[in-house]
Amino acid sequence: MAFLKLIFLIFILHSFMPIPISSTPSLNKEVFAQIRPDFLDFAKKPEIMDWMVGIRRKIHENPELGYEEFETSKLIRAELDLMGIPYKYPVAVTGVVGYIGTGKPPFVALRADMDALAMEVELVEWEHKSKVPGKMHACGHDAHVAMLLGAAKMLQEHRNDLQGTIVLIFQPAEEGGGGAKKMLDAGALDNVDAIFALHVSTKFPIGVLASRPGPILAATSFFEAVINGKGGHAALPQHTVDPILAASNVIVSLQHLVSREADPLDSQVVSIGKFQGGGAFNVIPDSVTIGGTFRTFSKESFVQLKQRIEEVITKQASVQRCNAKVIFHENSSYPVCFNNKELHEHFRKVAGEMLGVQNVVEAMANMGGEDFAFFSEVIPGLFFFLGMKNETQGPLQSGHSPYYTVNEDVFPYGAALHASLATTYLSENPPKHTSPPEGSFHDEL
Ligand SMILES: [Zn+2]
Ligand SMILES: [Zn+2]
Repeated sequence: MAFLKLIFLIFILHSFMPIPISSTPSLNKEVFAQIRPDFLDFAKKPEIMDWMVGIRRKIHENPELGYEEFETSKLIRAELDLMGIPYKYPVAVTGVVGYIGTGKPPFVALRADMDALAMEVELVEWEHKSKVPGKMHACGHDAHVAMLLGAAKMLQEHRNDLQGTIVLIFQPAEEGGGGAKKMLDAGALDNVDAIFALHVSTKFPIGVLASRPGPILAATSFFEAVINGKGGHAALPQHTVDPILAASNVIVSLQHLVSREADPLDSQVVSIGKFQGGGAFNVIPDSVTIGGTFRTFSKESFVQLKQRIEEVITKQASVQRCNAKVIFHENSSYPVCFNNKELHEHFRKVAGEMLGVQNVVEAMANMGGEDFAFFSEVIPGLFFFLGMKNETQGPLQSGHSPYYTVNEDVFPYGAALHASLATTYLSENPPKHTSPPEGSFHDEL
C-alpha cells in the first residue's frame, strides 16, 4: 500500500513539474527540415539530371568569352522564363539576376559564372566538344550554370514556402574580366545579406566538399613592362644599349622581392610568364616586353608588392642604361577571396547533414584568384569546392587544360547544395531591423 502511495505522489509531482522545452521552431523551420533532404533526391531524378546535363552540353558546345556570353545568357533566360522566375537583364552586359521567393528580406544570393577560356582547341574527343575554334569551357563554368539552374528549378517549386528571397547571379567574365565587380556596380547585390558560390574541383573525390574560413584564394594582379634600349649588331655591343640583358636582370631582381623582402609567413608570389624581344641571333633589339603576375594574401602586402615591382623594374633597367615603363592591368586585379566565418559554419552544417560530416573537409588556401572576391569583399560570402574525381573513371585533367573534362555525376550535389544553403540561410536568418522598409527593394517582383 505504501508503494502505491509513493507511485501516486510521484505522478502528482510530475504533473506539476514544468515540461522542458528545448526549442520552439517556427513553422517554416519545420517545413524546411522536411524539404532539405529532398533536394538531393529531387536533383538525382533522371529527368532533372538529364535536363541539367543537356544545358551544360549545349553551353559546352558553344563557349563564349567574357562579356560575350550572349547565347549562354539567352539560354539561361529561356530556362528562367519556362520556370516562371523573374529576372533582370542585362546586368554588366550579359549578366542575369533572377529572384525567387517573397521579394522581401532577407536576401541571399547564389552565384554561377558563365564565361569560357581562350584556348587553341579542345583536345577531348567527345560528341559535345567545343564547336568554336579558340574557345573552350575548360574551367567548368558551363557546369556551374547548369547546377544553378537545377537549384532554381527546385527552389521555384518551393517558392511559397520561402521566408525571404533567393537571388540567382549569373555573371559574365570571371576569367580575368572582373565580371563580379561590374555586377556589383550595377547593383546586383543591393540589399543582399549573404552570397554562396561553388567551383567544381578535380582535386577532391565526388561527394566531397572543401572550404575554409578566412582567406581561401589570393589577391591577384597582372603587370607588363616595356624596357627600351638601343638596338644594333650583336657583334658590336659597345654601340648598343642591350634591353635583353636589362630585362634579364630585372627578372632576377624581381625574384628577390618575395625571397628577401616579404615575411616568410606571409604568402606572396611574383612570376614572369612573358618575355618578348628580338628575332635574330645577331641583332640586339631596341626593346623587350616582359609581363607577369603577383599574388598576396593581404591588402597591405598587395599594395607594398605592387609599389616594389614598379621600383625594381624601372631602377634595375636604368642600371643597364635602359628606360622602363610599367603598366598594371587594374581591370584584372582581384582582391583576396575571403570566406566569412559564420557562413563557413553554416556551410559545414548544411553540407554535413546532406553528405556526411566526413565529406566536408578543410581546403588549403592557394595562390589562385577568383573574382567572387569582389562579392565577398562587400557582403559575407562563402566559396567552396565541389569534388568530382572518380578514380574508377580515370584521372581528371586540371582546370584550363585542353584535356579538361567535367564529371557530370556531380550535378545533383551542386544543385542540391545551392538550394539547401540558401533555404536554410533564409529560415535561420530573420530580416534584420536595418533592412529597408517594405517595397523599397527589387520592385520587379
Ligand atoms: Zn578558370
Ligand atoms: Zn573557374
